[in-house]
Amino acid sequence: MQVVDLNISKNGVLQQISSLGHEQVVFCNDQHTGLKAIIAIHNTNLGPALGGTRMWKYDNEEEALRDVLRLSRGMTFKAAISGLELGGGKAVIIGDSSTEKTEVLMRKFGQFVDTLSGKYITAEDVGMTTKDMKYIRKETKYVTGIPKEMGGSGDPSPLTAYGVYWGMKGAAEYRWGKSSLEGRKILIQGVGNVGGHLLEHLSKEGAVLFINDINENKVTKVAKKYNAKIITDNIYDLDIDIYAPCALGATINSETIDRLKCSIIAGSANNQLANEKTDSVILKNKNIIYAPDFLISAGGLINVYSEIKGYNEKQVLEKTKHIYSTTIDILHKADAENLTTHEAALLLAKDIVYNKKK
Ligand code: NAD
Repeated sequence: MQVVDLNISKNGVLQQISSLGHEQVVFCNDQHTGLKAIIAIHNTNLGPALGGTRMWKYDNEEEALRDVLRLSRGMTFKAAISGLELGGGKAVIIGDSSTEKTEVLMRKFGQFVDTLSGKYITAEDVGMTTKDMKYIRKETKYVTGIPKEMGGSGDPSPLTAYGVYWGMKGAAEYRWGKSSLEGRKILIQGVGNVGGHLLEHLSKEGAVLFINDINENKVTKVAKKYNAKIITDNIYDLDIDIYAPCALGATINSETIDRLKCSIIAGSANNQLANEKTDSVILKNKNIIYAPDFLISAGGLINVYSEIKGYNEKQVLEKTKHIYSTTIDILHKADAENLTTHEAALLLAKDIVYNKKK
C-alpha cells in the first residue's frame, strides 16, 4: 500500500498521474459553456472504466485533480472486489451544481465523454442526477444511470444504500455474533440520496438513529419521518455502536478517530480514510471494525453495470446482498493475516486487477 504525496505544484501533473497508476487523464475545457472537467481513467484491465461524475465547487484545480485521481482509483478496486468486468474511472466537473448546471453544460460534457469511445463510461455522483444523465445521453451512449423510462436503471443510490446496509450487517455479525441491528445506536452523517435510503432500512430494523447533515431542511424532514435524533455538534464524540459516513470523504482521520466511540464504521462515502495507511492502523489498534468503503458501497455500481449487460433486478439485488458475506470474509482475512481491514480488501482487489485472480 502506498501513500502518495499529491502535491501538484511540487511534483507536477504527470508525476501525480503515474504515482497512483493511472492510465489516462483528460482535461476538458469549453470556452463557450465554461465547462471545466477532468476525466480520470485509472485502470482498464478488467473492462471499460466506469465511474460517476461529481460536480463540486472545488476551491482550486489541484483539489479537483486530487479528488478525481483518488476516486477513480477507488472505482478500479470497487469493481474488482465486486466481481464486475469493469475498470475504474471517474470524472469531476468544477462548479456549483445548484447554480451553474445547465443542459448545455451537461451535453458538452457528454461530448467529451464520447471522444473516449467507451473507454470511460459515466454515471451519477454527488451533484448529479438522472436528469443530467438524460442530457449526457443525448451526446453519448457511454452513460449509465439514465432514467428507467429511457431504458436505464435509474438512480443507483437505493442500491448503494442496500449494499451499505448488508455490509453493516456483515460487520455486526462479525463483531457481535448477530447481524441484527435492532437497538444498535447508529449515526448517519449525510442524509442525501444514499443516507436517506439507508435510514429507511435501519429504521425498519429497529435501530436507534442519529443523523447529521449540513442541509437543515433535509435533516429536519427525515428526522421526523424516521424518528431519528438530529445531532448538530460534536458528532464524533457521540456514544454509538456504528458510525455511517454518507456525506463526503476523509472524515476518518487522526483527529476524529481519537474521539470516535463506535465499534463499527460502515458507510457509503468514498475515500473515508484521510490517510489509508495510518488511519486504518489506528482504527485496528482501537478495535474499531472498518468496513472498507469501496467494498460496501458497490451496490450502485452493480446496478449500473447491469444496465450495460441487460438489466436484471433480481440479480442486482442478489449480487448487492452478497456484500454481506464478502464483508465477513474480508474481516476474517484481516484477522487471520494480521492486516487492517482496508489492506485485506485492497490486497484481494489488487490480485484480481493485476494478477487476474478471481
Ligand atoms: P448526496 O449529495 O445526495 O448526499 C450527501 C449529503 O451529505 C447531502 O445531504 C449533504 O447536505 C450532506 N453533507 C455534505 N457535506 C456534509 C458535511 N460536512 N456534514 C454533514 N453532511 C454533509 O450524495 P449521495 O449520492 O448520497 O452520496 C453520498 C456519498 O456516498 C458520497 O461520498 C458519494 O461519493 C458516495 N457514494 C454514492 C453512491 C451513489 O450511488 N449515490 C455510490 C457510491 C458512493
